[in-house]
Amino acid sequence: MPTYEMFWDCDRCGTEKLLGKTHRHCPNCGAPQDPGRRYFPPEEEKVAVEDHKYVGADRRCVSCDTPNSAAAEFCTNCGNALEGAGSVSMKAEVEAGMQSGTRKPAKAPDPGPAKKPEASGGSGAGAAAAGMGLFGMGCLGLVAVVFVGFLIVCLLNLFWTESADLTVKGHTWTRSIELEKLSVSNESDWCNEMPANAKNVKRTEKKKSSKKVKDGEDCKTKNVDQGDGTFKTKKECTPRYREEPVMAAWCSWEAEKWKTFDTKKSTGTGLDSKPEWPKVSVDTCQTLGCSRQGEKKEVYTVELAEADGSKHTCDLKEPKWRTMAVGSKWTGTKAVLTGGLKCTDLEPAK
Ligand SMILES: [Zn+2]
Ligand SMILES: [Zn+2]
Repeated sequence: MPTYEMFWDCDRCGTEKLLGKTHRHCPNCGAPQDPGRRYFPPEEEKVAVEDHKYVGADRRCVSCDTPNSAAAEFCTNCGNALEGAGSVSMKAEVEAGMQSGTRKPAKAPDPGPAKKPEASGGSGAGAAAAGMGLFGMGCLGLVAVVFVGFLIVCLLNLFWTESADLTVKGHTWTRSIELEKLSVSNESDWCNEMPANAKNVKRTEKKKSSKKVKDGEDCKTKNVDQGDGTFKTKKECTPRYREEPVMAAWCSWEAEKWKTFDTKKSTGTGLDSKPEWPKVSVDTCQTLGCSRQGEKKEVYTVELAEADGSKHTCDLKEPKWRTMAVGSKWTGTKAVLTGGLKCTDLEPAK
């Protein structure tokens, strides 16, 4: 990449666009160059430096402020030894054309480190971004508080319990059987998930996922201050990607499936009623339209009451349910927060 001269303006006489490397002193009034005020020239005014040999950032003479080449041992202006002199500070690199030609107005008091125009232009957006950030933090905080609160309530409900004295008030039972029919079911999925008994299969292509494919690159030219009154340009490229769909075969088919079409139930109350399964009649065939017995369920519920009249029900296994005669006394634990009874630790009262 080629090398170009930085520019500077003379503070004393107002001459503008002096060359950073060639003009160590103002050709008009002789004032020494202030390396802190070098700037990138506009694109169309760039001045190339031929056969440039870079030896390092300039050193600023502590006695007369003149910038000197890093290779020099004595100030070219006043002859002072440069030993111990600090290097000049460099301008931040900018996109070519961005900061070109902008600089501090001549004669203005030095406000300290140079302020980049992007910084001032972007402060509004920066404040907005900061606002969004705060808003985001607030939301996150709220979610965290709600989550922790929820967790505490759950734990309290689980572990903050008290004992309850209970009296058995009654019993109910339910036994049910599902009835299923072999029917045609319309299904669809990726073809490799299709069951073996699929019929009337229709295939189509469908987007399953997407992948990133490299699609060229975006390049920018940047100006890089070398600190010796010159700058280099460099090209920076970032790859660009585009999304491409990944297709796969999608299938629709018909399959024979057992589907629940009815549920038969028997119910009863009291320990004396004998729980029995509902009567069902099903086919013995295995072809379309045939019926069969599906899932069987049995639920045995005991009704309990506390001394203050508050009622509870518990679904239990049949043998335990049978041991709990009406009027018998039991102890259990219940959650303090919700009053819910734990049905797993019911014990006969002592
Ligand atoms: Zn001058
Ligand atoms: Zn000097």
